[in-house]
Amino acid sequence: MIIDCHTHILYTGADPGARLFMKEMCRSYFQSVGRLPVDRQLTDSDWDDLSFLFEPTLPEVSIAEHEALGIDKIVILAVAPSNYTRYEIRGLWDPTNVTGLPEPHTLDQVNDRLAAVVNLYPDRFIGFAAVNPRYKGTEWAVDELDRAITELGLSGLKLYPGYDRYSPDDRDLMWPIWEKAAELDIPVMVHQASSAVTAFKMAYGRPFLLDDVGLEFPDLRLLICHVGKPWVDECTFLVMKHPNFYTDLSYYNSVTTRREMVEFLHRCKRWGLPLAKVCWGTDYPCFESLDSLLEKFLTMNEEAKALGMAPFTEQEMDGMLASNFLRFIGD
Ligand SMILES: [Zn+2]
Repeated sequence: MIIDCHTHILYTGADPGARLFMKEMCRSYFQSVGRLPVDRQLTDSDWDDLSFLFEPTLPEVSIAEHEALGIDKIVILAVAPSNYTRYEIRGLWDPTNVTGLPEPHTLDQVNDRLAAVVNLYPDRFIGFAAVNPRYKGTEWAVDELDRAITELGLSGLKLYPGYDRYSPDDRDLMWPIWEKAAELDIPVMVHQASSAVTAFKMAYGRPFLLDDVGLEFPDLRLLICHVGKPWVDECTFLVMKHPNFYTDLSYYNSVTTRREMVEFLHRCKRWGLPLAKVCWGTDYPCFESLDSLLEKFLTMNEEAKALGMAPFTEQEMDGMLASNFLRFIGD
């Protein structure tokens, strides 16, 4: 079995804020690979060849692309609502109404939309709700989390502190949310890593900000996304330190070579981070294509052999590809 433990679906906001967000997210990457000019300010027409970036990711397309590679399950993550950044209205949006939810469509419905997608393909999708204490306050977020799990049937929680501009160890804003997650006994994924978008607050993206959470909620299962990139060492250490912390390789695997990944995973083990706490995912729709990301991962032992390093065992590989995540979500 293979699980892609980190993907996105539909659309991340209402235009034009969503377009600005995607441009900022992707600008430097496409400049680096020569697909956008670097010697002048960008204009709207520079993006014409990249207009796919502004299209919603449709559920059936995600399923078909994953299925073609033998990926059985896809974890879809809601985007938390926010309406106070330079990206205007952010959240999980469904501009073509594939979920068929009745009008009016509001920012309060990101979890309803995600649940509706899961319900369209319950054998394929595993859905994580998202909340944001700076949107309508902590009390609203706690109630919304409770509703998303107990009424909508979603499987876990995704948080985006740096995007939504709060610290995950803010006691006033966040402790009631951590308490609710612990009470519900749900897995929590946290984007505790940075991002290319300008308004992402890096000070709130640092992995170490989850240290007190791990200390005070030792039973809470928590996954640090993107191995905390660029604070990969900090994330590695934190996941090693807290028994119920996990991490995922999504996005990091798009910017590392196969050789770098082999060396990184070996280093995890040397640092005392068993690969049983590492999950494979892609951040689909991602910079690198799904097939090359999967191929790169599945053929790591060829690289290990060439480097004279020990191969990854079948148990380690199966764990990273599926069973570690199933353990994380309590399946
Ligand atoms: Zn992501």
